[in-house]
Amino acid sequence: MKCDPTLFRPAKPALAVKPRLIRQLLLPPLIILLMIGLGVAGFMISEHNGIRTLSENGERQLELHARAVESEISKYTYLPSLLELENNVSNLLTEADGEHRQAVNEYLEGLNRRSRSRAIFVLDTTGRVQATSNWRDVDSFLGEDLSFRAYFQDAVRGQPGRFYGIGSTTGEPGYFLAHGLEEHGKIIGVAVIKVRLEAMEERWQRARLEAFVSDENGIIILSSDPARRLKSVRPLTPEIKERLARSLQYYWWPLNELEPLSREKIADGVEKLSFPANAELGDGRREVAYLAQTRRLSDTPWHFTLLTPLQDLRRESMVQGILVGVAFALLAILLIAWNERRKVIATRLAAREALEEANSQLERKIAERTADLRASNERLKGQIRERRHAEQTLRHAQDELVQAGKLAAIGQMSTSIAHELNQPLAALRTLSGNSVRFLERGALETVSTNLRTMNDLIDRMGRITASLRSFARRGEDSGKASLSKAVEASLQVLGNRIAGCHLQLHSNYEDQKLAIDQTRLEQILVNLIGNALDAMAAQPMPQLWLEGELLGDKYRLRVRDNGHGIDDETRKHLFEPFFTTKPGEHGLGLGLTLSASLAAAAKGSLSVEHPATGGTAFVLSLPLVNAPTESAESL
Ligand code: ADP
Repeated sequence: MKCDPTLFRPAKPALAVKPRLIRQLLLPPLIILLMIGLGVAGFMISEHNGIRTLSENGERQLELHARAVESEISKYTYLPSLLELENNVSNLLTEADGEHRQAVNEYLEGLNRRSRSRAIFVLDTTGRVQATSNWRDVDSFLGEDLSFRAYFQDAVRGQPGRFYGIGSTTGEPGYFLAHGLEEHGKIIGVAVIKVRLEAMEERWQRARLEAFVSDENGIIILSSDPARRLKSVRPLTPEIKERLARSLQYYWWPLNELEPLSREKIADGVEKLSFPANAELGDGRREVAYLAQTRRLSDTPWHFTLLTPLQDLRRESMVQGILVGVAFALLAILLIAWNERRKVIATRLAAREALEEANSQLERKIAERTADLRASNERLKGQIRERRHAEQTLRHAQDELVQAGKLAAIGQMSTSIAHELNQPLAALRTLSGNSVRFLERGALETVSTNLRTMNDLIDRMGRITASLRSFARRGEDSGKASLSKAVEASLQVLGNRIAGCHLQLHSNYEDQKLAIDQTRLEQILVNLIGNALDAMAAQPMPQLWLEGELLGDKYRLRVRDNGHGIDDETRKHLFEPFFTTKPGEHGLGLGLTLSASLAAAAKGSLSVEHPATGGTAFVLSLPLVNAPTESAESL
C-alpha cells in the first residue's frame, strides 16, 4: 500500500491552536461587554428621547403654570396705584394728622379685607408708615421706618416696586408691590400692598406638581417642597450673602444654596437635576432626578421652574436598555448558533464532496479496470480462437497421424497379412492343381469338395482384405454416434446367433452421444459381442451384461460375458493381429486389434478385465460429444 505523504505532515505548533482558543475564551466576555454597552446606549437613547418628549410636554405645563403665577401676581399690580385717587390718602401724606390717618387706616382695612391681601399700607416720602390696614394689630406697621426696603426706594423714584421679602415686623414672608403716589406730578408718598403667595404652593402640592419660583437674587421664594424654600439656585458668594443679609430682605433667614447632586444643562432653560431623596419617600432611592424647565415670569425679575420627575422615564429607559441588551444577547446567540450550523453544514458539504470525489475516483478506477478487463477478455478470446485453430490443425494432424498409424499398423501387419493370404493362396494352388487332376480322372465328388474348400478359402481371404480395407479407410473418427442405436444394430446383425443360444441380455447403460463414427462403433460392438457369444458357445446359460458408466468426459461401456474366460497365455497376445484361438476359418484374429485401433483413433481405448467371478469383460471407453472440456472451450 502506498502511503499518503500528506498524512505525515508535522503537527502544527501549539501556537496555531491558540487563536481559536482565544476566540472561544474572549467571545463570552466580549458579548457580555457589548450587551452591557448596547444596554447602556439603549438606556441613554431612550432617556434622551424621553427627556425630549417630556420637555415638549413640560413646555406646555410650564407655560400653563407660569401664566397662573403671573396672573396671581398681576392681580394686585394696580391696587396700590388706586390709592392715588383717594383724597384721604393724599391729605394724610400732605398733612399728617390723626383724623386723616384714622380715616385712611379704616379705608385700607376695608380695602385689604375685600382684596384678600395680607396688608395695605401707605408710607410718606421718608419711608415711614403713615397708615396701614393692620392698624388694630399689635404688630402693626404703623410708624415703622421702611425706607431701607428696595420696593420703597424704587417706588419713591417713580418706578414700580416689586419685592419679595420676609416682613421685619411680623417675620412673615410676603410679596410687596409698591407704587409712588403722585400729586401734581410730584411723589408725595408710597402705597404698598403685601400679598401672600402660599396659596399657590398649596395648589401645587394638591396637584402633585413640583415647582418653585426664584426671585431676582436666585432665592427660591415659592416652592411646592418646603425644604427648598429660601434656598439659592445660584452659587452664593460671601459678598452676596452679606449684601442680602444687610438688606433684611429675607429677615435673618440663613440662606443656603440649593445643592443638587448633579446638574446637567440640556438646553436653554432646560436642565437635568438630581436631589438627594426625601426620606419621606421611603422607597430606598438615594436620589431623585428631575427635568427642570425654567421660564422668566413677565413683569417681574422672577423665574418659574417646573420640575418633572424622571423616575418613571428612567425606569422605562432602563427597561428599554435591558430589552436592547437582551435582544442583542439573543441576536448574538442566534448568530453563534447560525455560525455553528453553517460550520456543520460546511463540514457536511466538505465530507459529501470528499465522498463524491472518492466515488468519482472509484468510478474512474472501475472504468479503467473494466477497460483493462475488456482488453484482456478480447486478448483471451483471441487466444481461444488461436487455440481452436491450433486444435483444428492438431486434430487434422492427429487424423493424419491416425491414418498414418493405421497404415503403419497395416505395414507392420503386412508380413502376417502376406502370411495369412499366402497360406490360402498356396492351399488354393494345391487344391486347384488337385482339382484339375481329379477332374481328368473323373472324380467329380472330390473336385466338388475341393471347390467348396477353395470357395471357403477365397471367402476367408475376402474377409481379411475387407476388414483391412475397412480399417485403412479414412473415416470420420470423431463423428457423433448413438450408443443405444449402435447396440441395437449390433444385436440385430448377430440376431441369428443370439436367438440360437438363448442369450440372457442385461442392459444397464444410458444412451449417450459418443464422439465416434456410428458404423465404427457398431463394428467394435459386433466384434466384442461376437467374441462373447463365441466364448459362451459351451455355456448352457449364456449371459451378457452391457453396463454403462460416466467417467469424466468419457463414457465407459463394459461388455461382460460368462464365457470360458481367457487363459494367461492368450492374455499376452490378445491384441496382436491375426491372433486367434478359434479353430479353422472361425477366427481371423483381427477383431480385437482393429477394434482397439478404431477406439484409439476416436481418442478412446479398449481394455480387458478378467472378473474374479469368471468370464471376460471388455471395457470400451469413448469421449462424449459436448464433453465438459469442449463446452469450456466454447467460452
Ligand atoms: P478372432 O475372433 O478372429 O479370433 P479376435 O482378435 O477377435 O480374433 O480374438 C482373438 C482371440 O481372443 C480369440 O481367438 C479368443 O481366443 C480371444 N477372445 C476374444 N474374445 C474373447 C472372449 N470374450 N472370451 C474368451 N476369449 C476371447
